[in-house]
Amino acid sequence: MPDYQTHTYDVLVIGAGGAGLRAAIEASAAGVRVGLICKSLLGKAHTVMAEGGIAAALANVDDRDNWMVHFADTMRGGQYVNNWRMAELHAKEAADRVRELEAWGALFDRTKDGRILQRNFGGHRYPRLAHVGDRTGLEMIRTLQDHGTYMDIEVHMECTIVSLLTSGGQVAGACGYERDRGRFSVYQAKAVVLATGGVGRAYKITSNSWEYTGDGHALAYDAGAELMDMEFVQFHPTGMVWPPSVRGILVTEGVRGEGGVLTNSQGRRFMFDDIPANYRASTADNEEEGWRYTQGDKSARRPPELLTRDHVSRCIVRELKEGRGSPHGGVFLDISWIKARVPDAAEHIKKKLPSMYHQFKQLADIDITAEAMEVGPTTHYIMGGVRVDGDTQMSSVPGLFAAGECAAGINGANRLGGNSLSDLLVFGKRAGEFAAKFAREHHQEPIDTAQADQAVRRALEPFEHEASGEGPYQVQYALQDMMQDLVGIVRTESEMVRALDGLEALKARANHVGVGGHREYNPGWHTALDLPNLLVASEAITRSAIERKESRGAHFREDYPEKDPAFGTFNIVVRKAADGSMAVSRAPIPEMPAELKRIIEEMK
Ligand SMILES: Cc1cc2nc3c(=O)[nH]c(=O)nc-3n(C[C@H](O)[C@H](O)[C@H](O)COP(=O)(O)OP(=O)(O)OC[C@H]3O[C@@H](n4cnc5c(N)ncnc54)[C@H](O)[C@@H]3O)c2cc1C
Repeated sequence: MPDYQTHTYDVLVIGAGGAGLRAAIEASAAGVRVGLICKSLLGKAHTVMAEGGIAAALANVDDRDNWMVHFADTMRGGQYVNNWRMAELHAKEAADRVRELEAWGALFDRTKDGRILQRNFGGHRYPRLAHVGDRTGLEMIRTLQDHGTYMDIEVHMECTIVSLLTSGGQVAGACGYERDRGRFSVYQAKAVVLATGGVGRAYKITSNSWEYTGDGHALAYDAGAELMDMEFVQFHPTGMVWPPSVRGILVTEGVRGEGGVLTNSQGRRFMFDDIPANYRASTADNEEEGWRYTQGDKSARRPPELLTRDHVSRCIVRELKEGRGSPHGGVFLDISWIKARVPDAAEHIKKKLPSMYHQFKQLADIDITAEAMEVGPTTHYIMGGVRVDGDTQMSSVPGLFAAGECAAGINGANRLGGNSLSDLLVFGKRAGEFAAKFAREHHQEPIDTAQADQAVRRALEPFEHEASGEGPYQVQYALQDMMQDLVGIVRTESEMVRALDGLEALKARANHVGVGGHREYNPGWHTALDLPNLLVASEAITRSAIERKESRGAHFREDYPEKDPAFGTFNIVVRKAADGSMAVSRAPIPEMPAELKRIIEEMK
């Protein structure tokens, strides 16, 4: 019988990024007992890495902006397979959530008359991203943590949840281990909010940190919840490509928002060569107009560098395939050229993009105020996640909620930059509110100790294979290579079917990985426990991508390069079948209310 500590809460929040912190604050404000768990130290969540800003129609810089334009932009960006209710709530509530963050102490950059400054970003019609230089996520996390300090929230840092516990079809808690000591704990709770972030570590080239191994996706799936839209993986167009040790690290879209341009080896601004029909009317057709847009000229249209991420990534891949790439396999992103237009450009760039300046100076010995960067696509974000109710964020498992990157719906086939941070605030708050409500209205389900014992036994298995087993890193690298090569930016049926075979083989290998040493701070062991989650997420991505026989948003099929309207009427959903296999189905998208349809038509 394994030995573990027990903690009891009304609401347990798993993940302490923006979504988890916001959920915990809201649940605590509702007067219930809240536990908050994170895999690393508090404050180190992915959210802290966010650079460009928070999208919200505050209309501080352009008074033509409002929630309807934001809604229409989000739906167009998502190619209309978004959960329209979530897109509506997000557009309506994001501005209040940003103002609330300000009231809690967030110090945003300012307009000349003292309001929150907003910057341009891809796919947003007007300057919309509230920001703090290019360190917005840091300010957001700092503010939420400061605010949370005064709430009654019990925090468990460096603790990884390995299994959700259910009883009578309802969530009853979770089981996890302390990363420093290796001890197990059971967290009993009436409601659980998953806020575990993304899955980027399933790919070789990624902007995501070590924590993003799809844990929430797999925990929910194993507990019986559905995952939706998993085929939509966002490849951000601008990651670093050189030196190899930093490949994939993000170069914020803010560089392009501030006037940075993409060029190929021939010095051509290739983004002007392919402007999609549905963006033609709102995109500049000459460089002069594009520049004026970045400088706030309201009569100008956005430069094509600020088209949606999926499109910019594919244009870069085209340049690379056709032999017009940079020396290290990327293209050039140049902000230094603005010295021809802006007095004291070097200081201006350092002020607007301080992290980018330091990132390139320190990691690549490149001074971005004087020379171009080399950039290429990097796995950045997953639009897919736990299928939730748009209003409450509850999954199909009673008492299990999800918010932030690990939940699906708001983004559809492609997320617009800046919409994640606002998603965390809007739906983090909602998840906290409704989880607290659920906890108040339901009694605690008893913990099934057999479930907890099994989770602990499974978690300890890698130690039993110490002598015979393969190391977990080999399996992780093999998975990342395979997903990058076979289920990446450009996909075909035959390659993805090969990937499914590959996944079966990797599952078998993952079941037998072995680790040595003891349980205290053992990274090999932690990696072994990440593997099943990465495999669930990868299988869900692959099966969903095979099912979507068209190209839409971030999902591009070379064998089906066009968008098929029939595929715009449903989302693809996976869930665990009774025999343990992954079942794929199509969930029809509910009819959109006429009022929202009208908004979309008017904004086209
Ligand atoms: C470099 C970079 C820049 C970005 N810039 C922007 C931007 O400017 N604007 C924007 O809108 N979006 C941006 N994004 C995307 C955005 O930052 C993320 O989508 C968002 O922060 C995710 O927040 P979250 O709260 O869902 O999860 P995260 O912030 O990813 O937090 C997840 C939490 O879950 C915990 N966790 C995970 N698994 C477990 C487990 N098994 N047990 C316990 N805890 C667990 C982690 O420890 C962590 O605390 C950027 C992303 C990156 C990588």
